[in-house]
Amino acid sequence: MIVLGIESTAHTFGIGIVGNGKILSNVKKSYTTEKGGIIPMDAAKHHRDNKESIYSEALKNSGVDESKIDAIAVSQGPGLAPCLLQGMGFAKELSRKLGKPIVPVNHCVAHLEIGRVTGAKDPVMLYASGANTQIIAYASGKFRVFGETLDIGVGNFIDTFARYAGMGFPGGPAIEKLAQQGKNFLEIPYKVKGMDIALSGILTNLRQKLESKKHSLPDLAFSLQETVFAMLVEVSERALAHTEKKELLLGGGVACNGRLQEMCKIMCKERGARFFCPEKQFLVDNAAMIAFLGEIMFKSGIGFKGKEIESLDIKPRQRTDDVEVSWRK
Ligand code: AMP
Ligand code: MG
Repeated sequence: MIVLGIESTAHTFGIGIVGNGKILSNVKKSYTTEKGGIIPMDAAKHHRDNKESIYSEALKNSGVDESKIDAIAVSQGPGLAPCLLQGMGFAKELSRKLGKPIVPVNHCVAHLEIGRVTGAKDPVMLYASGANTQIIAYASGKFRVFGETLDIGVGNFIDTFARYAGMGFPGGPAIEKLAQQGKNFLEIPYKVKGMDIALSGILTNLRQKLESKKHSLPDLAFSLQETVFAMLVEVSERALAHTEKKELLLGGGVACNGRLQEMCKIMCKERGARFFCPEKQFLVDNAAMIAFLGEIMFKSGIGFKGKEIESLDIKPRQRTDDVEVSWRK
């Protein structure tokens, strides 16, 4: 079986192709800026301008002829509506052209299920991306959100701080480099509320420290990472304890951060849990994970055909725990 996946929830447009659980290609192009954050309409234009060439490249890399595709999986949500519309539009176009069904996939759940390629079977996932920050695990028929950010996603939080400091998007990798040069730990607010975290107050505090010009940027970046990653690790550990699961899986672009990975690894070692971190191409937004979960869902009988496709729409605010999980027992 061959399933093609499309990702377009935010800054990245990607096409992935999977054959019987094997990733055959994973091509993507991401919208970036020199200064400032994502402008949704500009990101959507980026996707429209690049979709055809990404599609051709993905087919070429996989060695698969388009006539061999059995289904088209697409990220239905959550995400930015103008960006999602590009992906859904392209999925419908391909579906009409190839006469194949569409499998609508939840982006967050795809981040979790791609963990299977690392060997994670029933993990607690720390999903730390730009817009989303959630602790997710499967329980009683659904992927439950055990904890999450009460305001902004941790990636957006880091990117916004980077923007205040005059850097472009994405700011995460630059902040990680700066943090390595940090020498002094500065006291900043630590905001864990039950199983949730809050970041906007910390952002304000960091902005004030930045504008006071009393601290170096490396020290600020270092203190930001040490504090906020400790918050993420704390709630992840509590989710492991509560669910009695024995695997921690990382997902999302912020999980590319070496210090976050290190802190999670230490926590797992201390409590006898296994640590899983997919390779970078599957951590960031990518379409291979959409194709991968799409194939699992398609095999379980999910797919929209013929007239049903007209009723298929994007779900910009779809929640992880809204998804009916019929493919896991
Ligand atoms: P995603 O939305 O999952 O594609 O992830 C994008 C987010 O990951 C952006 O907010 C980036 O700034 C962030 N990011 C990427 N690499 C790193 C890194 N090394 N450290 C921290 N954040 C990162
Ligand atoms: Mg993501």
